[in-house]
Amino acid sequence: MRSHLLNGLTAERYRRSVTEGVERVAAKLATTDRPFTGVTVDALAPRIDAIDLDRPLGDTTAVLDELEDVYLRDAVYFHHPRYLAHLNCPVVIPAVLGEAVLSAVNSSLDTWDQSAGGTLIERRLIEWTAARAGLGPAADGVFTSGGSQSNLQALLLAREEAKCDDLAKLRVFASDVSHFSVKKSAKLLGLGQDAVVTVPVDHDKRMQTVALAHELERCKQDGLVPMAVVATAGTTDFGSIDPLPEIAGLCAQYGVWMHVDAAYGCGLLASVKHRHRIDGIERADSVTVDYHKSFFQPVSSSAVLVRDAATLRHATYHAEYLNPRRMVQERIPNQVDKSLQTTRRFDALKLWLTLRTMGADGIGQLFDEVCDLARQGWRLLAADPRYDVVVEPSLSTLVFRYIPAAVTDPAEIDRANLYARKALFASGDAVVAGTKVAGRHYLKFTLLNPETTTADITAVLDLIAGHAEQYLGESLDRAS
Ligand SMILES: *Cc1c(COP(=O)(O)O)cnc(C)c1O
Repeated sequence: MRSHLLNGLTAERYRRSVTEGVERVAAKLATTDRPFTGVTVDALAPRIDAIDLDRPLGDTTAVLDELEDVYLRDAVYFHHPRYLAHLNCPVVIPAVLGEAVLSAVNSSLDTWDQSAGGTLIERRLIEWTAARAGLGPAADGVFTSGGSQSNLQALLLAREEAKCDDLAKLRVFASDVSHFSVKKSAKLLGLGQDAVVTVPVDHDKRMQTVALAHELERCKQDGLVPMAVVATAGTTDFGSIDPLPEIAGLCAQYGVWMHVDAAYGCGLLASVKHRHRIDGIERADSVTVDYHKSFFQPVSSSAVLVRDAATLRHATYHAEYLNPRRMVQERIPNQVDKSLQTTRRFDALKLWLTLRTMGADGIGQLFDEVCDLARQGWRLLAADPRYDVVVEPSLSTLVFRYIPAAVTDPAEIDRANLYARKALFASGDAVVAGTKVAGRHYLKFTLLNPETTTADITAVLDLIAGHAEQYLGESLDRAS
């Protein structure tokens, strides 16, 4: 069994084994002609259940053959140009190389004595990102598992900085299309049920700052404590960017922590063309960035940034066995002092190799391309009488709904759209997402693949219309 341990004696076996796996994936990527096979849970679950985990196959080739059957064949492939569903990006090769290196070396970024250069590389990348955001000389931050964790940590710091012992009095303000992790965080942080005040959005799905001002004032009048405003720079559904400068002004006026959730919009930090769209981010107290959304990085790669490094102390706990207080005086850099996690992956390496290979402009260019594609897709949708499209995109998302001229019952249109999404998924020809707008079911393209073309968009819109028409035809038959 020791032959399976990765070490100096098994280096050759490691090379062969990983190469064999890489070759399988490469062959798969080269031959995948659809984003999905349309496999159902009922078809796949028995294959996975049938495997006897107490009877190992032992041999890499046999294991990979089996993996083909239970996973690789039917996986959802984000690199395919007709995968248009969630905020998943195709990944860049330097980052995948980073993934291979970081898991083999297996550094843990909690302490210097488990990572050495890894800690310093992560710190440089935090500095780099904070500088791009313009957070100033005292900025800091740490890599996290994702935007949800970044938002939780940012709100933890905001809660502590609010210096109010009566948690029931604290209020967090976020738009009604902000990410659900804001509410989840409030719950985890022990805030009251009504802690998150929902601020309405305008027709472009941006937070209405007049309404925010009103809510902040009311909070004060009611003797409550405004703890944070969460401005979203790229909402998950619409890609809309809240008016950051105005929100920053209100936060300054009311002395409230400004958190910018740029999980999606952070790609603009690397953009030459569209960077100005997130102007105002430099005034944030904390920022969430998800490199695994718009920096073309594999899951996970994310960070939380703060304007004032000192605020990270709210996440610090000194354990004798790991990061005793004296290490701070000895100036030993232990990232665990800033993190909610303890053992933590060296995810920063992926971004490092990406920047060292392609440069930030390379990433920004890819993100610009998908933003431009979304703009073209919006024009197509706006000109297409079969569809209603919600907002002109600020990033790379399109939300729309099939609206046949002959059908007036909105509930029937809802069902046709839901059906079309399911039928498309089952066909595997394309994958799209869905959401609700004003209580009605809509479909969504999240465009993060620069290989997707307007021809793909047109083709998928035709497929959707075909499925929806089929549903409505059958529905008419059912009725008659
Ligand atoms: C995706 C997303 C999150 C959550 O990020 P995860 O990495 O999925 O945890 C938070 N906020 C916004 C705006 C998002 O789009």
